Amino acid sequence: MSITIARTRAELAAAVGDATVAFVPTMGALHDGHVQLLKHARPLGEVLVASIFVNPTQFAPGEDFEDYPRTFDADLERCAEAGVDVVFAPAVETMYPSGFDTTITVDPGPLGSILEGAARPTHFRGVLTVVAKLFGLVRPDVAVFGEKDYQQLTLIRQMSRELALDVEIVGCPTVREADGLAMSSRNIYLTADDRVRAAAVSAALRAGVAAGPEGADAVLDAAHAVLDAAGITPDYLVLTNPELGDPEPGQEARLLVAARVGKPRLLDNCALTIGATKLGS
Ligand code: AMP
Repeated sequence: MSITIARTRAELAAAVGDATVAFVPTMGALHDGHVQLLKHARPLGEVLVASIFVNPTQFAPGEDFEDYPRTFDADLERCAEAGVDVVFAPAVETMYPSGFDTTITVDPGPLGSILEGAARPTHFRGVLTVVAKLFGLVRPDVAVFGEKDYQQLTLIRQMSRELALDVEIVGCPTVREADGLAMSSRNIYLTADDRVRAAAVSAALRAGVAAGPEGADAVLDAAHAVLDAAGITPDYLVLTNPELGDPEPGQEARLLVAARVGKPRLLDNCALTIGATKLGS
């Protein structure tokens, strides 16, 4: 099956028919991280749909909506290589038929105002709203999201469950550059010097993981030390449980970091097990 570009619900419906659908939403500027997501999703449905839509409502005024990289032709090639059947690339009017001000939105709840939500208060409302709309248009059985955006993945899982959207949410491990930097469409904003320094973000996570058996404080100390040495002050560096609540000694945990390195704000996170030392003790 050759790749089909659908711009509207009717074109989507014609391209998909009655098949089961695996879905990967993206904002384009596709890199190898997106390609892994697509390959992960390929066997999960009879038809694989990828969306390419730079969603205005998840950018706050002054953020990089206008400058966000747009590489549609190259994206189509990457989609074709990864086995995508249908690329859904809607116009803004298709996604927001009554404009932005009158749109019904999804409230992300308490999890939407911590971490990324504290730095970007309207971000997750925009993300969840557009994902809910995309689910309504694409009607997927399964949708695949990257662990790279761990809070987003957690919120989308929660939304699908609590709003009974009946879409299975699958997480896909973070794809990294050779030096550990998590791939991101925004890495192109890094200068050559900042690109070298940016490797410290994932190195900090690895140092945290290595200190895991010594307990929570040791994890955070080790990770902070790596960031300090690179002259990076994180917006946050936190240890949580897998649902972003308080971590439990001896249990699986998540270490999450956000830090501005030059222009872009870099996000990364990883799973780890922390030893039995209590946080703060
Ligand atoms: P975006 O186009 O940045 O909105 O991302 C689309 C999807 O790709 C989201 O589910 C992201 O979490 C995922 N993604 C972005 N970067 C990576 C990466 N380096 N590894 C795995 N998934 C990623």
